[in-house]
Amino acid sequence: MSESTYDVAVVGAGVFGAWTAYQLRRTGKRVVLIDAQGAGNSLSSSGDQSRIIRTGYGGDELYTRSALRSLQLWRDLSAQAEETLFHKTGVLWLAHEDDPYPIRTRETFHDLGIPFEKLTTSELGQRYPQIGLDRISWAMLEIDGGILSARKAVQAVVREAIRLGVEYFEEAVGPLTPKSNLDHIVTKSGRRISAGSFVFACGPWLPKIFPDLLAGRIQPTRQEVFYFAAPAGNQSFTSPALPTWIDFKDEAYGLPNLEGHGVKVAIDRHGPPFDPDNGNRVVTEEGLVEVRKYLAARLPELKDAPVIEARVCQYENTSNGDFLIDCHPEFENVWLVGGGSGHGFKHGPVVGEYVAARIEGSKEGIEPRFSLRTKASEYQREVY
Ligand SMILES: Cc1cc2nc3c(=O)[nH]c(=O)nc-3n(C[C@H](O)[C@H](O)[C@H](O)COP(=O)(O)OP(=O)(O)OC[C@H]3O[C@@H](n4cnc5c(N)ncnc54)[C@H](O)[C@@H]3O)c2cc1C
Repeated sequence: MSESTYDVAVVGAGVFGAWTAYQLRRTGKRVVLIDAQGAGNSLSSSGDQSRIIRTGYGGDELYTRSALRSLQLWRDLSAQAEETLFHKTGVLWLAHEDDPYPIRTRETFHDLGIPFEKLTTSELGQRYPQIGLDRISWAMLEIDGGILSARKAVQAVVREAIRLGVEYFEEAVGPLTPKSNLDHIVTKSGRRISAGSFVFACGPWLPKIFPDLLAGRIQPTRQEVFYFAAPAGNQSFTSPALPTWIDFKDEAYGLPNLEGHGVKVAIDRHGPPFDPDNGNRVVTEEGLVEVRKYLAARLPELKDAPVIEARVCQYENTSNGDFLIDCHPEFENVWLVGGGSGHGFKHGPVVGEYVAARIEGSKEGIEPRFSLRTKASEYQREVY
């Protein structure tokens, strides 16, 4: 059996694990990063073409500030990697009359000096004639928001981490043998990895690795995503003519045609429970019918547009949507990092910084909302 020794072993190279390995290495740690299927693989929650980055979170400044800092770190990484990982499309918040969330978001933007533009329906109609305004009473353009090229971005983080000296390999880590203090893990092929600390950033697989602790506290749900072809030669569904948009009241969001992948539309409501290894990844007819109905109202020109790609991904939800970043109650050198809950991607850089600070032993800025004890098994979504 081969053996290697590190300060920290990070298991899982999705957006949380990749940034954690990168940030730990920047603090001088010897780090190994291991993934069962490869960074940003298509089974993982990070493995799609794109993810929205917005700083708006209603009145919830914790995630607004985190997204703001993360946006800067994503931009820095793009420059460092010499790759376009962030696309500044703007994020258009479509507000329904009775919805307090965009109003609170606007107040937070105002308080924190985040640039936005408020639009009346007539301004909306003039600027974005391709958007149907049924039930919309006003809108707000978050000017600096946009899209992260998700899979590409995770792979770039891993490449930069390797460049800094992180060791990376693709293997599955086997189940843990219960002990009071973990000093090594073993991969399925028998490789033994010794480390001072271990980070499990395994997204929707966390409840499988720690069933006694996390089954029920992290619930993966099945989410369908559709990409539609825009009419040939028609630029009105591509940025800057069409921004990314959020329509929380209608439980939907969409992204303009980016890098030829098509216009992306998805329903943001939690789907049924899902197994990330064996769940059915073929989209349903009902899912497509619902998305087409939404398109008919919001982007009527695309209501019959061909589907050019469709994916099933999973959210890994905590009870209210707050992340889980805490020490395992039985192993003081084991960290549980996950619970992205359908909104975590953008925060990867700050999650990595937060975990690195905890492993350094810093007591500054510990966030009670990320603790294990706040993760109930009864679901009430509060963070979107
Ligand atoms: C449809 C959809 C839309 C979303 N939209 C947005 C959005 O617009 N904006 C946003 O910010 N967020 C969004 N999210 C949420 C975001 O994508 C996730 O919160 C985030 O990607 C979770 O990352 P992760 O690193 O925790 O998990 P993952 O990306 O799933 O990574 C976990 C990794 O662990 C590895 N692994 C698991 N078990 C083992 C093992 N035993 N040994 C070794 N490796 C292992 C896996 O192979 C995987 O690569 C969306 C999610 C979905 C599904």
